[in-house]
Amino acid sequence: PSTHYDVIIIGAGASGLYCALTAGRRGRRVLVLDHANKAGKKILMSGGGRCNFTNYFVEPEHFISANQHFCKSALSRYPSWEFISMVEHHKVAYHEREHGQLFCDDSAQDILTMLLDECAAAGVQIRLNTEIKQVQTINDNGKDNARFELITAKKLGKKDVANAANTSKTYYSCESLVVATGGLSIPTMGASGLGYELAQQFGHTLVTTDPSLVPFTFTDKTGELLRALSGISMPVVASNTRTSFKLPLLFTHRGLSGPAMLQLSNYWQTGEHITINLLPDINVSDLLLAHKQSHPKQLIRTVLADNTDNALPKKLLTALQTTLWDDIKDTELANIKDERLIELGATLNGWQLKPSGTEGYRTAEVTRGGIKTDEVSSKTMQSNYQDGLYFIGEVLDVTGWLGGYNFQWAWASGFVCGEVV
Ligand code: FAD
Repeated sequence: PSTHYDVIIIGAGASGLYCALTAGRRGRRVLVLDHANKAGKKILMSGGGRCNFTNYFVEPEHFISANQHFCKSALSRYPSWEFISMVEHHKVAYHEREHGQLFCDDSAQDILTMLLDECAAAGVQIRLNTEIKQVQTINDNGKDNARFELITAKKLGKKDVANAANTSKTYYSCESLVVATGGLSIPTMGASGLGYELAQQFGHTLVTTDPSLVPFTFTDKTGELLRALSGISMPVVASNTRTSFKLPLLFTHRGLSGPAMLQLSNYWQTGEHITINLLPDINVSDLLLAHKQSHPKQLIRTVLADNTDNALPKKLLTALQTTLWDDIKDTELANIKDERLIELGATLNGWQLKPSGTEGYRTAEVTRGGIKTDEVSSKTMQSNYQDGLYFIGEVLDVTGWLGGYNFQWAWASGFVCGEVV
């Protein structure tokens, strides 16, 4: 015998909790299942512990998907001020940082507590430590209109293994089943591929998944150079053939990170080059040529150190000199050919690097790709192939920029789904 709910949501993360409280407020009997021992673990670790829960400026352009139009409907029906007003209603203190990003003043826990309180007020039940063993459709046209049956088991801890009673299965049925299992990043926080497997079980297609919002790694000589600069942070313009971001870059002992690199990673494919303009506010070729006229006895490093404020840190300047103009480092400008100065300027304004890869799911904030959105309703998040089956949040092929956009997608997709399940 199975216990029946109107709505079962798999995944007690950002989108699952928001969908649950929305459906619960409509009077639906809602159960949320999660295999983790705690709800909303990613919310707690987000935004460096302060949760960048949304952004003042949310546009479809801030999202990447094989179908750029898919996110529009949900985002317009659930704008960021809806979430902000819930935050204010719960008296969660928050502040704005650059580019409209909103963070908690105190702790991401405030956001999780708010969501759990709203779920409790809406009568939502949450069951943790629960593994989903099987999902199948059932044909029950009785009063419950049960369409799905879930077979679950308690997730076994070390102590439980000895106790056979704990291995028994629990059966649930529901009219609407919502898959809110998130992406693959940070496996230690409960990420799994279950959502993708369920989608495929019901005939859905996946868009290739990749770690995203993730630092780049480098091998060979570039890797060595970057490692030596570890700790330096500076504003740059980072770009590739598709996009460009003017944001801080951070050199790390593994390669390149910082907002500029994370944002670019959303648009990067393995094997591609990236371009970094180290001095975005200066045309370095023009600067060097002008100084060759006005100060012919100067050295390149003097010009760059004197004219770039603090934009080119000394350690970086020295390293670049060793790599790029070691042969003419003590040559006066007057004795360097114009072509060489032009070429050097172009390199500093457009340093071409080829990452060997990224740090992967271990540190990626999100998973790019996922369930193909052409096969899901953009108004309700319902599957085109199975009535009553819904997909929300990061499991879908919708990836936001850094800056609160991924949570905004979780809230918005959770909301529009919660209104109809
Ligand atoms: P999740 O919130 O990941 O929830 C999925 C849930 O499903 C989890 O509770 C998981 O345990 C459960 N689950 C998975 N597999 C199974 C299974 N097999 N059985 C049962 N349950 C399962 N975004 C922002 O907008 N702002 C930020 O500041 C920000 N910071 C981040 C920092 C880090 C370190 C990381 C990793 C991500 C950050 N993100 C941020 C991204 C954001 O956390 C996610 O995009 C968002 O949580 C996605 O919501 P979701 O509901 O789709 O998935």
